[in-house]
Amino acid sequence: MTEMKTGKVFLVGAGPGDPRLLTLRGKEVLTAADLVLYDGLANPLLLRLADCPCERTARTQVGGGRIVLQQEINERLIREAHSGKNVVRLKGGDPYIFGRGSEEAAALEAAGVPFEVIPGITAATAAGEYAGFSFTHRDIASAVAFVTGHEDPSREAPRLDYRALASFPGTLVFYMGLGRVQDICTQLICEGKPGTTSAAVVCQASLPQQRVVISTLAELPAAVAASDLRPPSLIVVGECVDLRHACSWFEQGPLFGQTIGITRPDHQSDDIAAKIVTLSGQPVIMPMIEIRAIHETQAATADEVVARLENYQWLVFTSVNGVAAFFDRLWQTGRDVRQIGHLQVAAVGSSTAAALENRGLRADIVPDSFRAEALAESLSPHVKDQRVLWARASRGRDVLSRTLADAGATVDEVIVYRNDDVEPFDAQVVDLVRSGSLDWVGLSSPSIARQFAKLLSTHQISPQSLSTKIATISPVTSGAVTEAGLVVAVEATTYTWDGIIDAIAGSTTAR
Ligand code: SAH
Repeated sequence: MTEMKTGKVFLVGAGPGDPRLLTLRGKEVLTAADLVLYDGLANPLLLRLADCPCERTARTQVGGGRIVLQQEINERLIREAHSGKNVVRLKGGDPYIFGRGSEEAAALEAAGVPFEVIPGITAATAAGEYAGFSFTHRDIASAVAFVTGHEDPSREAPRLDYRALASFPGTLVFYMGLGRVQDICTQLICEGKPGTTSAAVVCQASLPQQRVVISTLAELPAAVAASDLRPPSLIVVGECVDLRHACSWFEQGPLFGQTIGITRPDHQSDDIAAKIVTLSGQPVIMPMIEIRAIHETQAATADEVVARLENYQWLVFTSVNGVAAFFDRLWQTGRDVRQIGHLQVAAVGSSTAAALENRGLRADIVPDSFRAEALAESLSPHVKDQRVLWARASRGRDVLSRTLADAGATVDEVIVYRNDDVEPFDAQVVDLVRSGSLDWVGLSSPSIARQFAKLLSTHQISPQSLSTKIATISPVTSGAVTEAGLVVAVEATTYTWDGIIDAIAGSTTAR
């Protein structure tokens, strides 16, 4: 019997929040992992890089005291590695900075499990750059200290020396300190730090919900109490706080503070999520529909059509998914792109045309306005007495077929993929909508619009109480939204998802 090879554990710093701040090495090992165990501070968007089960590790509250199940996590890492898995332990910020990563490393070492530790950007450095604090600006600070704020400064034998901290020649950054902000400030003042020293709290650094409260050491606790701050947060004490406006940039992003729902199929959401993040917004991937393979009988029909493409003069695509599914059938039946050399090709819009281009095909017709009516209009003069094949979804509008038939074409429709509603609705998404935490939702087809309306009605969220603003891709989708009793806030001028995001960004900057 061969012995199972032990896997490796990667202790990976997930960075402070902004998913783009993961290291290249971190991305590499996440992509190849067999199991990911992540903590509550790691941005869930990073899990999309992994193609394996991902589990969140829990901290539990027992009898008022906080029990971190570190021992269990250590044992789990060892067990999974011994069973041959490569495990990524994904931890917010940097694994060793107030992160207990070193305890995990020591346990792995003791158990003889190979491991690698990949640094991450710690919360303090992210707060520095994203909120505009230069902790060691040469004119004001020659040192910076990262301090735990979790330790009770009034306890009998504190390990932290507040006298030394009060006279520290530089910037102080407290982690885990928001709950003790009063104690921390009082203790520093008692030990001689002037109450007029500038101080700040940064919450959710590097995330679109980032908030900064600026004050003085004496007044910071009251300023914090007056603000509705959400963890995680850092306390920054020192003169660098005064220079914030000279070096802040992140909060200038057009979508800063905006949480935006992406409702298109999951596998098509990553590019749009990345665009939202680039504009300082928070994407929520909440697919309302999904693309599935067609049933066996539909596949048999599609394969028959694909076998007699010589019967047609035109091939029409109205979605990226249609292009992918059509060429998949061609390939699966032992054929390839040479089969369509004699055909003229039409695409409804730029994304569909780009999908064709990726396969080395140039669309003969792409209408200026990306919708079925415009496509039908552009095609009509060319299709009299011609046979047109339309590779389409299992549902959708049929305006294209009707118009082309009126123009004298024989139109065959072949269903190459299914477009199904996603149900049941994700409980977290429902909560976001109900609580008013979703600022925007993008709706990119009538079926998606109807499904979003169904989410509201299924969960008794009345259109009047809905605070989420709706951005639509086109007038046709806007029509479906209005028909469902909802209000359209903005409509894209270019009928693509990029167009939706641009419309949202335009309306938030216009405020
Ligand atoms: N290993 C992490 C720290 C874990 S301790 C790191 O290197 O960043 C958890 C504390 O980190 C929180 O209580 C908070 O003080 C801080 N923190 C983590 N992410 C943060 C963020 N995005 N904004 C502000 N503080 C953050």
